[in-house]
Amino acid sequence: MKQIDKSKPVLVTGATGYIAGWLVKSLLDEGITVHAAVRNPDDTQKNAHLVELAKNSKGEIKFFKTDLLDANSYKEAMTNCELVYHTASPFTLDVKDPQKDLIEPAVIGTENVLKQANKIETVKRIVVTSSCAAIYTDATDCSMAPNGVLTEEIWNTTSSLEYQPYSYSKTLAEKKAWEMNKEQNLWDLVTINPSLVLGPALNANSVTSESYNLLKQLVDGTMKIGAPKMGIGMVDVRDVAEAHFQAGFNPNANGRYITSAHNTNFLEIAQSLLPKYGDKYPIPKKALPKWLLMIVGPMINKAMTRRYIKNNVNIEFKADNSKIKNELGIAFKPMQETMEDSMQTLIDNGIV
Ligand code: NAP
Repeated sequence: MKQIDKSKPVLVTGATGYIAGWLVKSLLDEGITVHAAVRNPDDTQKNAHLVELAKNSKGEIKFFKTDLLDANSYKEAMTNCELVYHTASPFTLDVKDPQKDLIEPAVIGTENVLKQANKIETVKRIVVTSSCAAIYTDATDCSMAPNGVLTEEIWNTTSSLEYQPYSYSKTLAEKKAWEMNKEQNLWDLVTINPSLVLGPALNANSVTSESYNLLKQLVDGTMKIGAPKMGIGMVDVRDVAEAHFQAGFNPNANGRYITSAHNTNFLEIAQSLLPKYGDKYPIPKKALPKWLLMIVGPMINKAMTRRYIKNNVNIEFKADNSKIKNELGIAFKPMQETMEDSMQTLIDNGIV
């Protein structure tokens, strides 16, 4: 049981990220000093929302120049920290070279951050942002799970460098983290494994997360004629941040946590916007037939291969979120609230 001293700085890697923004906000609101590890501390535009959050809170923010592939770059940022959040990892589905663009930053990056922690005696706990992608690749994988439901016991065995390499990168990175956790006694490890994260962004105009591409595509007319009934889990970004906060400060937090509010599909997610925005925006009302998707999918998105469509469209996704609810007291937001708040950020920022 480890209690984290809130007067000590807390490191957040990938602090400019979509999820990390909300986590940094919770930490700052709590009066904590955040060590924000970013690739470019001089990019005032990209970091502006974090500076603004610190101005309006009790906490303080300090920026550190780091890179996942630079082994020694985390030393200064980690000094004096008891708690480390490792969120940085590329989340993109359209890559040219999966080994270089996804696997290396995810796995070598995790190794570099954790190796650094082995050398800094103050570090007591590391929370790694993993993913449900480290548990499964396709909705059809659910049927291989006991009772057809994904739990924290399950590991992704179906992704590879060739098929859904993002999922593969998250699987290898999380495995590396647990392996390194076993080899030392200094810090304990907790992983947060979110499903698809949606919700408002604090940095709407500079988001790199694939979440935002998907969000835009749901409402900007790309799916006007219909959305795929593709089985997926979904969770609000603010709940994911709260999950990270609890995983860091709740002394009883342990192991992996599936962080997924709703077992749903793309069509249902889009339809939750119809009551408020259906009249003004081209929100999909109908399911796109699987046969049509088989033809157009691969043309729209490189990751939408026929195999992916076959294994996910019209297939139910089921994950068990009881561990995080029971152990960390997370209460998930309703889908409609997440989606209406997401839509409002897109409108307010002129994105749709
Ligand atoms: P994001 O906004 O793109 O954030 C990822 C951050 O990682 C970026 O801000 C970037 O920071 C940093 N990063 C990327 N490559 C890097 C590199 N080579 N060196 C150093 N930093 C690098 O994406 P996100 O959605 O918030 O994702 C955050 C984490 O959540 C990731 O680990 C992702 O796999 C995980 N996750 C996301 C979802 C989702 O649906 N969004 C679901 C499950 C898990 P800089 O550009 O400032 O360096």
